[in-house]
Amino acid sequence: MKRTAAMAFVVLASVSCAGQKPVASSGATPTSAPSSEASSEAATPDTSATPRPTAPPPFTAKVTKVTREQLPYSWRPGCPVSYQDLRLITMSYWGFDDKPHTGELVVRKTVTDDIQTVFRKLYDWRWPIRQMKLVDVFKGDDYASIDADNTSAFNCRRATGSSNWSNHAYGQAIDINPRENPYVTASGGTAHQNAKRYTKRPMQGKGVVNPGDKVVKAFAQVGWEWGGYWAGTKDLQHFSKGGG
Ligand SMILES: [Zn+2]
Repeated sequence: MKRTAAMAFVVLASVSCAGQKPVASSGATPTSAPSSEASSEAATPDTSATPRPTAPPPFTAKVTKVTREQLPYSWRPGCPVSYQDLRLITMSYWGFDDKPHTGELVVRKTVTDDIQTVFRKLYDWRWPIRQMKLVDVFKGDDYASIDADNTSAFNCRRATGSSNWSNHAYGQAIDINPRENPYVTASGGTAHQNAKRYTKRPMQGKGVVNPGDKVVKAFAQVGWEWGGYWAGTKDLQHFSKGGG
């Protein structure tokens, strides 16, 4: 198969180049032969004409079960969802440093497809995320995680200013770039000093979510609502399945 594809490329290249650079074409064959992906790319004239040796790796995501020990702070007995119904997603994200990274999120097992669908888009758009670690890295401290501009999902805690469980406690909510997208009170305030310049919308900025953004639309397409559309208090970092 690989050999056939490579041969087809040589023939194609010979025809399209009218024999101008047969040496260059056949010289490129050995490097493209080891992978069938590379071979099929090489068969596309446009791609072979403009090689991208520094192209970042494609998006990847891996979903695994979690143990009690992996969530020492974010889960405890009495939480509304068993840790057995949670999943760890280890996946690519695009960093503020304009480079690919691998992050971790814990969500309910029923929404792993939603999250992968959205984050694949964000990565392909090169939409930047500061960092993506489990809130357990911050000992389950939501305030510390937000202050570190950490993107995270599951955390067995109450909703801010309420005795009800947050959607984060169900693993069906995610906070994205919480510094650039703060929780803003009705009077326009935020509890985080480093987020004060990000309380207005719309505004330009790296990792900022605005009304009507493609990020908001990507989440909406899988049934997740944005807290930036709430009346009064706005939770600009917050997306949740079905809202709330
Ligand atoms: Zn949230």
